[in-house]
Amino acid sequence: MNDAFIKWVKKRFGPNVKAGEPMSRHTTLGVGGPAGLFVSVDNTEGLRELLARCNDEGVDFFILGGGSNLLVRDGGMDGVVIDMKKGWKEISISADRDGEVVVAAGAGLWLQAVCRYAIEQGLSGMNFALGIPGSVGGAVVMNAGTSSGNMGDVVDAIEIVTRTGSVEKKKRSELDFSYRRFSVKGLGSPESGGFAVTMAKLVLKHGDRGALRDEANEILRRRLVVQPVDKSSAGCFFRNPSQGESAGRLIEMAGLKGMTIGGAAVSEKHANFFVNRGDATASDFIRLMEVVQDRVSDLFGIDLEPEVIIVG
Ligand SMILES: Cc1cc2nc3c(=O)[nH]c(=O)nc-3n(C[C@H](O)[C@H](O)[C@H](O)COP(=O)(O)OP(=O)(O)OC[C@H]3O[C@@H](n4cnc5c(N)ncnc54)[C@H](O)[C@@H]3O)c2cc1C
Repeated sequence: MNDAFIKWVKKRFGPNVKAGEPMSRHTTLGVGGPAGLFVSVDNTEGLRELLARCNDEGVDFFILGGGSNLLVRDGGMDGVVIDMKKGWKEISISADRDGEVVVAAGAGLWLQAVCRYAIEQGLSGMNFALGIPGSVGGAVVMNAGTSSGNMGDVVDAIEIVTRTGSVEKKKRSELDFSYRRFSVKGLGSPESGGFAVTMAKLVLKHGDRGALRDEANEILRRRLVVQPVDKSSAGCFFRNPSQGESAGRLIEMAGLKGMTIGGAAVSEKHANFFVNRGDATASDFIRLMEVVQDRVSDLFGIDLEPEVIIVG
């Protein structure tokens, strides 16, 4: 980043720019070093300008949602972190036809707000996502989900801003969703293609509000029982292997539940959750990850792959 670029960003985004902002403040794991420039953007015009400028100047950028699936290294991140949490909060019903209801949800909305909206409107299809933290944008990009469903089951179309600053709509047929992965035909993943998701259209169905509410209460109650939701984590740390035991079960069978390195620990409640005991560093989590990977590989011959996005 040269001085002229930094000057332009500060002039264009004013008080919404912070140099050296600790990423630990923006990740649910509560770790991560400073961002080169941390820019909160809340509208598409600003996002278009910033992405295009980064592209022209060859500056790296990273799109931040709720930070609930991120492990940022202690050394921090060079370039620009674009925080999308303050904008793109609109939600509305954009079509209601043949029993299907299309809800347009801004990428900066909390996924939980969308789940609640759907229940209030008597719409079924979003309850699978109850209890998943983070933003709509992050949920699309991670194809977030559970055994009851994934974002890819409900996303009908999205709006994106490309790295050159053009606003484009992408239909369902142009989107590829697989287990915790997402890409757009011709562009690749947001990370490799360098685009930001600003809106998603979700196809839901009419349902019974009372039944949806009862189901929601049960899903959230179950999460409290099986997940350490009161602790700082990034959800499941590893992807489940394509067959056989789940990552959590393998870690548990390896006797690693409760293992700690520095301030990072394998949760006693759910072995695929790594939790921050209060004073963890990103290096603690990385070392814990490596120890768990080595032990599981030695015992079962299975290479666990992180589900959390490791950056910096
Ligand atoms: C307690 C807990 C429970 C969890 N349970 C689940 C679960 O049941 N199922 C599940 O799938 N996940 C779960 N997670 C993980 C996490 O909540 C999801 O992956 C979530 O969808 C991430 O959204 P986010 O907004 O926080 O994304 P971030 O963590 O901010 O970012 C994740 C990735 O998406 C990219 N990104 C974010 N927003 C955009 C955007 N608008 N445009 C382009 N790229 C973007 C980022 O660059 C990054 O690569 C859990 C996490 C926690 C802490």
